[in-house]
Amino acid sequence: MNKAEFPLIGIFGGTFDPIHYGHLRVAEEIAETASLQEMRFVPAGIPRLRCAPVASLQHRAAMVRVAIRDNSRFILDERETRRDGVSYSVDSLRELKRELGTDVILCFIIGADAFMKLAEWHSWRELFGLCHFIIAARPGHPLTVNHGALPQELAEECAQRWVSREDDLKHTSCGLIFVAPTTLLDISATAIRARIAAGRSIRYLIPDAALAYIAANHLYSGEG
Ligand code: ATP
Repeated sequence: MNKAEFPLIGIFGGTFDPIHYGHLRVAEEIAETASLQEMRFVPAGIPRLRCAPVASLQHRAAMVRVAIRDNSRFILDERETRRDGVSYSVDSLRELKRELGTDVILCFIIGADAFMKLAEWHSWRELFGLCHFIIAARPGHPLTVNHGALPQELAEECAQRWVSREDDLKHTSCGLIFVAPTTLLDISATAIRARIAAGRSIRYLIPDAALAYIAANHLYSGEG
């Protein structure tokens, strides 16, 4: 559906176990490039496709809150803390669409590693009817996503959806895929948790406020 220019809202789903500068820098750069009106961080409940997060959803949401508090465009969206059980992005996007109405365009922010596995997500084809995708490259996951490295059924679904200009996202309500130019930062939550467990420094990998929260709550050290 063609649209006049409506505001774009970024939806950044993730386990954020914990949030780190890889997430934050990607969010900042995509918000700037795509002129997003706001970026909503949506910490996931229990993901269906991966191991249970280490920290509780309440702790993970609290770390996001303190990490983004100085950025007026960044918002913590705690809807998945209010839902029981397994977490599906499609449910959050359906709710957001209902709440925010048709005068905004939702853009789901996703790393290249996660996008490669999209066809394993619950009701994944429906997502293209709810939002655009903005993909961030990730070290170790080169941007071959639109050059044949996707699983076949995902590649087929995506074939007509790639756009190379962020401006294209503003004129269609959903269903497009844009690979954003972002700074490659080889930071992962898994590596951060491993460093904490080993008693090693995580300074400069995550914001100081999130670091202080982890220390105060004895997260990831095995003592909590
Ligand atoms: P883990 O190491 O536990 O898998 P993670 O660091 O990938 O965690 P998530 O919360 O699972 O963090 O990631 C949320 C989203 O952010 C995913 O789409 C993921 O691909 C993306 N992402 C995470 N880290 C980076 C990074 N350094 N650069 C680009 N995208 C990232």
